[in-house]
Amino acid sequence: MRGEGRGEYRIGAVFSNREIIAGIVDSRHRVVSRASLALGAGCDYRETARLVADCAGLAARGLGIDPDLCASVGVGCPGIANRETGEVVYSGPMVWNHVPFGKELQKQFPGAQTVSVAELAGCTALGESLAGAALRCTQVVLFQFGAGISSGVVVDGRIFGGKYCAGARLGHCTIVSGGKTCSCGRKGCFEAYASLEALAEQAREAAARYKNTLLGRYDALTISPAEVMDCARKGDRAARRVLGQYIDYVSDGIVNAVNAFRPEIVVLGGAEVKFWKESLDEINSRCCERYYGAALLPVPKVVLASLGVDAGLIGAAALGEAGN
Ligand SMILES: [Zn+2]
Repeated sequence: MRGEGRGEYRIGAVFSNREIIAGIVDSRHRVVSRASLALGAGCDYRETARLVADCAGLAARGLGIDPDLCASVGVGCPGIANRETGEVVYSGPMVWNHVPFGKELQKQFPGAQTVSVAELAGCTALGESLAGAALRCTQVVLFQFGAGISSGVVVDGRIFGGKYCAGARLGHCTIVSGGKTCSCGRKGCFEAYASLEALAEQAREAAARYKNTLLGRYDALTISPAEVMDCARKGDRAARRVLGQYIDYVSDGIVNAVNAFRPEIVVLGGAEVKFWKESLDEINSRCCERYYGAALLPVPKVVLASLGVDAGLIGAAALGEAGN
């Protein structure tokens, strides 16, 4: 066993309805060991807490340390996680409603000084600000694009969650009044137009309508964001039209967030983060035209996330640090 004492390392973990990933994070916000375990869909909160402890144990042993000697444990959870009480108010992917997940975690880590639970995208935003694309920024907005859009906001260096930690849901701000129905039940949300699933739907519609185009040659049922980008790169007019409209939606959602929080930086992440690379200049230029006070003050830059899943581990681990 290595000689580092309590306080050298913290445990950070994140989970989805497919897997748990746990990391051992050092005092310089580096993930020095990680482990993962499969998680069945609909796994209940007690079993999930037990598996988080198993996964953290694997990560600790990978480094040759005792997990009980880690100073704190932080877990990033998808959904509404009330950091003050440890209650997960709601988690769609886990099908949890009002479960005392934090209390259950505490039972699993009796030696830890603090055990915290917070919303996953908030942890990811904090992680990017401590060690990634938003390094040294204390005001950060992060969007995670996937089947939906989740968002995390860091204000004055801390995760902003509002009352019950139910705020900062920037994917559910309206960009088209009376528009498409969103997963949350409202109409016209940013998520309903700018998630990767929404882009795929927009591409499918265009592929079915413009059959004599490059886009039209793809299977309208399975076309992916990467294929839309590929067609647009080759100059295909249908794909360029889809992408141009999509970038417009994305820019509107970003501008709404910036006008609300005025961060120093906006970070775009998600599993297909590379997809954004070629559109960043266009997104930045469209956003610049629309930010409130753009002519008066420097505007935030829109950048790509750089840490992937490690951002969530680093942010979750940092929940136990003073001031976070
Ligand atoms: Zn919504």
